[in-house]
Amino acid sequence: MTLAPTMPRATSAWVADWARQGSCSGQDPDALFVQGKAQRTAKLVCRGCPVVAECLADALDSRIDFGVWGGMTQRERRALLRRRPDVESWSSVLAAAKDGGLSPATF
Ligand code: SF4
Repeated sequence: MTLAPTMPRATSAWVADWARQGSCSGQDPDALFVQGKAQRTAKLVCRGCPVVAECLADALDSRIDFGVWGGMTQRERRALLRRRPDVESWSSVLAAAKDGGLSPATF
């Protein structure tokens, strides 16, 4: 089950310098690098984050395998990568999805 938030249409432009615009900006970064079930709670901060697609794309393209990124736990990202081995650039896929108002949860 994926609880990735939907992306608001008002912020459909891709944000290259996304890290400072995240909902978690200014919070304790260790809160997102918890393990196991604690990630399900930690990822709640991602709901409504205006740069969830950018954050997720960076994690998937860089194969970051620890912590919460883009509204997904590490286990959810691994599952997504296994489901879509054909994707060479998650940045491209998610930028197109964001432009179309789709959620990463649709992948
Ligand atoms: S999607 Fe989550 S982890 Fe990524 S910037 Fe937004 S709040 Fe932070």
